[in-house]
Amino acid sequence: MAKLNDVPILIRRTHEERILGALRAGGPSTRAELERRVGLSRTTVSEIAGSLLARGALVEIDPASGPRRRGRPAVRLALEPSSGQLLGVDLGHRRVYVAAVNASNEVIGSGVREYAMSTSWSERLDLTTSLADQIRAEHDLSFGALEAVGVGVPGPVSSALLADSRVPDRWQGMSRDAVIDLVRNGLQRHFGARVVIDNNTRFAGLAEAVWGAHRNLDSLLYVRLSDGVGGALVVGGRLVSGAGGTAGEVGHVEVESDGRACWCGKRGCLETVASVPAMLDSIRAADPTVRTFAAAVARCEEPAVGAVLAHAAAALGRTLAATATVLDPQDVVVAGEALRFGEAFLGPARAAFDEAVLPDPRRRGRLRATSLRDEAGALGALTAAYRRSPLLAGYADLAAESSRPTVPRPARAKA
Ligand SMILES: [Zn+2]
Repeated sequence: MAKLNDVPILIRRTHEERILGALRAGGPSTRAELERRVGLSRTTVSEIAGSLLARGALVEIDPASGPRRRGRPAVRLALEPSSGQLLGVDLGHRRVYVAAVNASNEVIGSGVREYAMSTSWSERLDLTTSLADQIRAEHDLSFGALEAVGVGVPGPVSSALLADSRVPDRWQGMSRDAVIDLVRNGLQRHFGARVVIDNNTRFAGLAEAVWGAHRNLDSLLYVRLSDGVGGALVVGGRLVSGAGGTAGEVGHVEVESDGRACWCGKRGCLETVASVPAMLDSIRAADPTVRTFAAAVARCEEPAVGAVLAHAAAALGRTLAATATVLDPQDVVVAGEALRFGEAFLGPARAAFDEAVLPDPRRRGRLRATSLRDEAGALGALTAAYRRSPLLAGYADLAAESSRPTVPRPARAKA
C-alpha cells in the first residue's frame, strides 16, 4: 500500500489528477492536446493515460466517429462516466450511507441501509460492502478503478484522545482502535483501495464548509446532535484536529456542574443534556406518556416536552456562544436528529446563542440549521478522500473546481 511519504506514488497521483482535471475541464482530448494542457512529457502522459485506461477510469473514443484528418487519426481520451473513482461512506450506529463519484466528480450512485443499534461492527461492515455492491449493480458501475474510500465513523477517532480508549455503550463493547482496524482492513481488502478514516461528524462539518449554504467557508463551528453530540471546527480553511484529535468536541463541554455521568468520564457534559437520548430521558421523566422519539417530535409544542427542549437548547446555545466568542467563526451550524424538533429546539438555541455571544449584530444570528441532509457525512468523506491528505490542506478550493455533487435521495432499505 502507498504510504503518504512515498514520493514517487504521490507524484504519480498528482500527474493522474492533472490529466483527469484537464479531461474534466476540457472534455475528450487527444494525448497531444493533453501534453500541451498539462505540461507533461509525451512519455509521462502516455504512461499515466495507459494506467488510467487499464483501471477503467478512462476510455478511448473511436477516431472513426470523428472527422478524419490526414495520416493516422488521433484517438481521443475521455472520462469513463460509470467508473467509480471514490467512495464516501458514513458508517453510523443505526445506518450506513454510501456514495460513489466518478472521475468527473459526479455522484453516480448512492444508497442508505438502516440497521438496529445492536448490530455488531462486523455485521455493519458486511452491510456496507453489500450496499456498495448493490449500488454498483443497480447503476451498472465499475469499482475496479477505485482510488480511495473515505469512511466516517462515530465518536472520536484519535487514539491519543483518551488514555484508556473509553467509548460509549453504543460502540457495542468494542474498543475504538479495534473498530477502526476492522473497518480499515475490511474495506481495504474488499475494494483494494486506500482508506481514509475519520469521525463522521467532522466529515459532515467539512461537507458543510465546502458544500453548505455558504460555500467555501474559511471558518465554521459545527455541531451534530443525534445519539451523541459531536462537533467539528474549521479554522483558516482547515478541518482542525487539535493536539489530541478532539478539536470541535463541544459535546463534552460541561454545562451542568453536578449533572449526569458522561461516558467520557466527566459529569454534566452537553451530550448528557442535549443528545436525543438524553432529551428523551428527560421528556419521559416529565411526562411518562411520551414514549418514543416520534411521539416527542409530534408533541414538542406541549409545555412538558417544550420545557425540556428549551432547557437543552439553551445549554447548546450558551456553549456555542462561548466557543464562537473565542473563535469568531463565519458560521455556527447545528445538525442532527435534534432538528426534527424544529423551532421548539432551534428557537431557544438561537435565542440563548444571541444573548450570550458578544453584542455585535454580525455575530448575533449566526447560528443556523444545516443546509445538507443525511448525505453530509458521506460527502465529507468523499472530500477527504479526494484531497488525499489527513490534514485536508487547502480543501476549500474544491467547490471552485466543480459544482457540489447532487446526491439523489436514496430509497431507504431495511437490512
Ligand atoms: Zn463527556
